[in-house]
Amino acid sequence: MTAVHFEVSANAAPDQARAGRLTTPHGTLQTPTLCHIAPQATVKGLDPAELRHIGVDALVTDTYRLGLRPGGETIAALGGLHSFMSWPGALISDDGTWALTEGLAVDIGPLDTRRRARGQEGRVVRVDDDAVTFTSHIDGSTHRLTPELSIRLQEQLGADLIQACDVPPAKRTDEAAAERSTAWARRSLDARSRADQALFGVVRGGTLRPLRERSAEVMGALPFEGYVVGGLMGQTSQTRRQLLEWSCARLPTERPRLAHATGDLREVFDAVEVGVDLVVCMGATAYARRGVLYTRSGPLDITGDALREDFAPVDDSCGCGSCQTFTRSYLHHLFDARELLAYRLATLHNVFFMSDLAHHLSAAILNGTLPEMREAFFSRWPSDPETTVSD
Ligand SMILES: [Zn+2]
Repeated sequence: MTAVHFEVSANAAPDQARAGRLTTPHGTLQTPTLCHIAPQATVKGLDPAELRHIGVDALVTDTYRLGLRPGGETIAALGGLHSFMSWPGALISDDGTWALTEGLAVDIGPLDTRRRARGQEGRVVRVDDDAVTFTSHIDGSTHRLTPELSIRLQEQLGADLIQACDVPPAKRTDEAAAERSTAWARRSLDARSRADQALFGVVRGGTLRPLRERSAEVMGALPFEGYVVGGLMGQTSQTRRQLLEWSCARLPTERPRLAHATGDLREVFDAVEVGVDLVVCMGATAYARRGVLYTRSGPLDITGDALREDFAPVDDSCGCGSCQTFTRSYLHHLFDARELLAYRLATLHNVFFMSDLAHHLSAAILNGTLPEMREAFFSRWPSDPETTVSD
């Protein structure tokens, strides 16, 4: 089955930056592509027409959340996610365990917060050889997700790129975890039935180089149409880059790779530099809602008192609607007054900034000037890392 066509247009070693084109059933992505998250079938604060207008081509949805609410059958009955959320571009779904495992650092509901406050276990109740058992953050109900069910759910949602089901090791030995990952990868491949979706395998292997390289080799030998480099969340930026490098070095060059980055833009550069084609930017929209805006001079906290009478745009070189129309002073006021428009304008700016960054990254890779671009990009940022934002 080949639902996507991937073409690398710049020659590169397996663990070096590359530019390319990924053709999906819902449009062609120029890679590297920076993708934004739409966990509940929406990028918070922006509608699909605005997203398209500012150059967004691909969104990442959350199978866990959408599977629980409104449910795969409801979305399938409405023609799938593209139709449900009126999104004409490419969609990527996870296997349904991301929010349960890698997303554990983020509270996703009051039940989880209360559970943790009581010192009780997280949402994943149990992982056995057959399935992962978890509780819903909505009503506490218990669910069991097998690789087969994960694929069925993702087929109901209908994203263009879907992911094989996998869960990182908990208390098992590394070898046993690796065996289970391979078994679940094969079960995911066997379970798929739609030819118009590309199935991506997941590389894990913890933080040990031999295990990670082995995982990449094993997954790379299976007939996936692309790969997700997992197990990065919760690691330091330095470790994340190392894990990405070890993984990408052993993956087939002719298939696309996807990885998640936090809101720290250094991680976006790191991922692209070692050969990731699709970078899921977890932080850009969340930062915006907290009033943290990307600028050429580093992240700007728009809620800071110093901006109360700053009549410049957020970034004077930005072409987004927020910067073209409004001042820092106005955005500061909107955040201060907790007006809804604050979140919209801030999100619009950060997403536009990332679209613009993606174009520059592509051009720099094709011109062979990525190292110079990185140096120039961060040269105006504060040298003290404490003044920049991290998750
Ligand atoms: Zn702007």
